[in-house]
Amino acid sequence: MRINLALLKGDGIGPEIVDSACHVLDTVARRYSHDIAYTSLLAGGCAIDATGVPLPKETLDECLKSDSVLLGAVGGPKWDTLPGHLRPEKALLGVRKALGLYANIRPAKLYSALADRCPLRVVDDFDILIVRELTGGIYFGESGRRNGQYGEEAFDTECYSEKEIERIGRVAFEAAKKRNKKLTSIDKANVLESSRLWRETMHKLSHEYKEVEYADMLVDNAAMQLIKNPAQFDVIVTSNMFGDILSDEASQLTGSIGMLPSASLGESTRGMYEPIHGSAPDIAGKGIANPIATILSVAMMLRYSFSLEKEADCIENAVVKTLDQEYFTGDIGGKMTNNEITDKIIENL
Ligand code: NAD
Repeated sequence: MRINLALLKGDGIGPEIVDSACHVLDTVARRYSHDIAYTSLLAGGCAIDATGVPLPKETLDECLKSDSVLLGAVGGPKWDTLPGHLRPEKALLGVRKALGLYANIRPAKLYSALADRCPLRVVDDFDILIVRELTGGIYFGESGRRNGQYGEEAFDTECYSEKEIERIGRVAFEAAKKRNKKLTSIDKANVLESSRLWRETMHKLSHEYKEVEYADMLVDNAAMQLIKNPAQFDVIVTSNMFGDILSDEASQLTGSIGMLPSASLGESTRGMYEPIHGSAPDIAGKGIANPIATILSVAMMLRYSFSLEKEADCIENAVVKTLDQEYFTGDIGGKMTNNEITDKIIENL
């Protein structure tokens, strides 16, 4: 298979971790006779420095022509004082919007080798996939300020259409079908009308996926259950804001932010893949960043965009083996550099 990848290395540790992930990808591609072509593009702070805007038109055009996008991370203190529309993060929102990426998929998995990094005292290994709606809900509804009875008021509105709920629901049911066939939909249907439509729509959809064990859970209970017994979850589907909060909660249970990949998907097979962490300016340029989140993002890309299951398994198994051999970077209690752990993963492929 020939794959054209748009690379947005971004800022801080972005270039280091993307380079590591590309070495791993190239090795797997050679083994399975795939041909990967990369186009490196400016996005984020580096794009602001070079062109004055976080997402130059050329970058967006090339992303739209690519088969998928791999992103490192954007941002850093240098650009923190810029006005909102010129901030590095605008690049991510711009790509997500232009590519119609409405589903954010974040695995949160506790690896046996890292069990003692989990902040919970007693925990079974867990492997959760959170499917978060990414382009609707309260982050995109009507908002504003107005004069009310008691002075200035501010409001944000949550609005979801049946169509938006159904399409994210399908992504989640399909994902559950390929995993342990268990889906929990998280809402606040005891209070919010948007959540009641969410629940009704998910229930209707569940009749089409009889092989998937389906349950609803209120978001306050879900926040508690994630701490009490994370292993009870397989796939979780939820709205934009609840997903934002719960996926950060779940990620902390895995021990390090440097381990967690993510995918943003839309109607086509083209997705954007990125680690969940940021540009880590405190360690940028030192060669000590953990590249595993980005390497696992490449595995997700092979699986979700190109249906290359064997190749994705190959990368994921090599990561597990490397951790089992107790090769760790600083964030997970070791001393290895980015390059050293990348070489070990490549050896284990
Ligand atoms: P961060 O994720 O960059 O860093 C938080 C802490 O985790 C730091 O101590 C960092 O050294 C560590 N860390 C993160 N990734 C690591 C890795 N791969 N290996 C080892 N350690 C790692 O979050 P922050 O400090 O809040 O943000 C820094 C910048 O990144 C900000 O400008 C922020 O806006 C941006 N950011 C970008 C994205 C993105 O591009 N998707 C996401 C979050 C934050």
